Amino acid sequence: MPAISSNKPYRVGRSRTGLGLFATKPIKKGAKIVRYFGPLLDSRKKKDDAIENKYLFELNNRWTIDGSVRKNIARYINHACKPNAESDVSPRKRKVVIRAIKNIEPGEEINYDYGTDYFKAYLKPIGCKCDACEKKRKKKRAEARAERLRLKAKAERKALKKAEKEAAKAEQKLARKASKQELNGNAKHANGKLMNGHTGKAAAAKLPSAKSGIFAKARGRPVQESQASA
Ligand SMILES: [Zn+2]
Repeated sequence: MPAISSNKPYRVGRSRTGLGLFATKPIKKGAKIVRYFGPLLDSRKKKDDAIENKYLFELNNRWTIDGSVRKNIARYINHACKPNAESDVSPRKRKVVIRAIKNIEPGEEINYDYGTDYFKAYLKPIGCKCDACEKKRKKKRAEARAERLRLKAKAERKALKKAEKEAAKAEQKLARKASKQELNGNAKHANGKLMNGHTGKAAAAKLPSAKSGIFAKARGRPVQESQASA
């Protein structure tokens, strides 16, 4: 870790993504924090144009700062989508200064927006780990969790409703069966009564003929005949 004199309002420290630059003193909004510096690369020179690293800071079509040198403390500053600092670029002076765009408290990590090109090339593929993106991811995860719970509860309610419906159906079926049996029983009773009534009536209708004496005589005759034959 490079030595940083104590009058600087920052220090290099551990961050979520590795190392980062942290405020050690309050930094006022608008204040210059540190210069982003390194050798100037000329895109018109083949040798310069061939250099490739994560710390290239493009000033314009022609000039790029190679910030990969150890002395460039600003290279420790991580990207953030909602940063507390910005890169103040003067292409004419070929100079970049990192400036606070918010009041920064001691202990806070200093960060600036690396820009769309860097984001697309390096951060999007691995997922940006800045506070704003982490918060967004957390929120999305919480929402997804809530949605899963909601769907689970819905499925459980549906299953319960189905089970209740089936239970009610089974009960109805049983009740219908029972009432059918009862009805059949009643019908038999009713038939029996009806038949009894009918036979009763028939008997009653036939009774007078039986009472007339013919029936008794007819009944008596076979007995006499069997006795006679015996
Ligand atoms: Zn981000």
